[in-house]
Amino acid sequence: MSDKYDVVVIGSGPAGYVAAIKAAQLGMNTACVEQWIDAKGAPVLGGTCLNVGCIPSKALLDSSYKFHEAREDLGLHGIKVGEASIDVPAMIARKEKIVGQLTGGIAGLFKHNGVTVVSGKGRVLAGARVEVTDAEGNTRELEAGSVIIAAGSVPVEIPPAPVDGQYIIDSTGALELQEVPGRLGVIGAGVIGLELGSVWGRLGAEVVMLEALEDFLPMMDVQIAKEAAKIFKKQGLDIRLGTRVTGAQVADGKVEVTFSTADGEHTETFDRLIVAVGRRPRSEELFSGDSGITLDERGFIYVNDFCETEAPNVYAVGDVVRGPMLAHKGSEEGIVVVERIHGKQAQMNYDCIPSVIYTHPEVAAVGKTEQELKADGIEYKAGVFPFVASGRALASNETEGMVKIVADAETDRILGCHIIGPSAADLVQQVVIAMEFGSSAEDLALTVFGHPTLSEAVHEAALAVDGQAIHIANRKKR
Ligand code: FAD
Ligand code: NAD
Repeated sequence: MSDKYDVVVIGSGPAGYVAAIKAAQLGMNTACVEQWIDAKGAPVLGGTCLNVGCIPSKALLDSSYKFHEAREDLGLHGIKVGEASIDVPAMIARKEKIVGQLTGGIAGLFKHNGVTVVSGKGRVLAGARVEVTDAEGNTRELEAGSVIIAAGSVPVEIPPAPVDGQYIIDSTGALELQEVPGRLGVIGAGVIGLELGSVWGRLGAEVVMLEALEDFLPMMDVQIAKEAAKIFKKQGLDIRLGTRVTGAQVADGKVEVTFSTADGEHTETFDRLIVAVGRRPRSEELFSGDSGITLDERGFIYVNDFCETEAPNVYAVGDVVRGPMLAHKGSEEGIVVVERIHGKQAQMNYDCIPSVIYTHPEVAAVGKTEQELKADGIEYKAGVFPFVASGRALASNETEGMVKIVADAETDRILGCHIIGPSAADLVQQVVIAMEFGSSAEDLALTVFGHPTLSEAVHEAALAVDGQAIHIANRKKR
């Protein structure tokens, strides 16, 4: 095997594997270095996303929602089923099968496109060379025309609640529980806390979420975050804001958590405790001191708008660099970098990256929130349409939530869309496309939407931007 490649990618998560496939498709001789190995020593492809992130969490969210529907919702449709019960190991096994299918798929795509997998830990040396150390400690060096670092991220740990993998767990542990905990504590009411808290809550756990901040989901539009808090509380998630965890002790198979709030010190006992307080870039031991690569003040690999590091011909993409830690953001960066290596003037549009929380209902957003527009002093118009006024939402008994579209007051250009409601993840994508094409709210309002669809709520929100909605009473203009 030649140790010279046009492109060497470090990491096979959604940022790395997409970059590797794209580079091979463009005719470049490509290797992908991956350090993750399974029990048999074979490389595990797909990174966090496929193995312990997006995919397994969505598999469990869907399974647990079906259980919830069987117990709570089917009766409303006149469907009578016996008492539903849950087989957690079977649910976890289904999730693992899906993961295996998808990671095997990446191996197949690599083979089909001619990407060479190099098993081991990659480290970038000066002159775009990559040193790879395998599980046995053997090292070899790869020469690369270009290096793309896609080393991803790992969960943040906090001193008061060190993860032991059994009682105090991180997101990976929370995807592997073999039984439903009676009482489940979650530190952090962010994306992971809400998604995995929902999974185990639907399966019967009493979920208490301890969140340090006073505001719930501060990155979301305030109106949507308020609605989300109301809905999640109604679902039984006990979300405690303004909570500072000071300690967590494991004794007799329980976790005793101490925390302080504005009204003093408290203690709660849980069967399991999930720590979900964010992720940090996996940027340590990734490059030699003379490589030219630098880190920013938060430990991310420093890159410019084109994902170029400070070392010539070395790029970095995905969770290991600034920006939202989202699979699709990393994948798109990977594509842009490879196209630029191939000589195309590709560019990433960081203003149009959707984000979703896969609770039920889903919470989805793209672009600016109302509070950001106010802070930036931008004059805007907002149109809101509640799902309770959508015929399709009513037919599906999915009437919680709303669609909000914000547009520039003068030009009418769409600046953002914020949704809490059924299929919000798919609905927001319609506005992402509109924004990518530079649409105005009127463009969307003049588009014909099929009836009856949930998408009509997007149409009505666009109409509402100018007080033209049909199926709600429009706010009077002063
Ligand atoms: P990763 O997926 O972390 O992959 C990095 C890879 O690089 C790993 O395989 C690692 O082993 C390898 N590596 C690291 N260092 C080296 C080295 N030195 N040498 C060789 N290999 C190395 N995002 C979404 O968009 N949607 C979701 O629904 C979603 N759900 C999530 C749910 C959970 C529970 C979690 C934890 C995350 C979720 N995310 C989601 C975030 C998403 O998983 C990440 O944004 C995404 O995986 C980042 O991709 P990446 O390729 O940058 O890094
Ligand atoms: P997050 O940033 O979404 O939430 C972490 C929460 O923990 C925040 O609300 C924060 O205020 C709180 N927190 C931090 N320190 C705390 C402490 N000491 N005590 C109590 N609360 C504390 O991070 P996450 O939920 O861990 O997820 C990590 C990343 O993974 C996110 O950035 C997200 O982009 C990505 N992710 C995405 C999805 C998705 O796209 N659906 C799903 C899961 C994860």
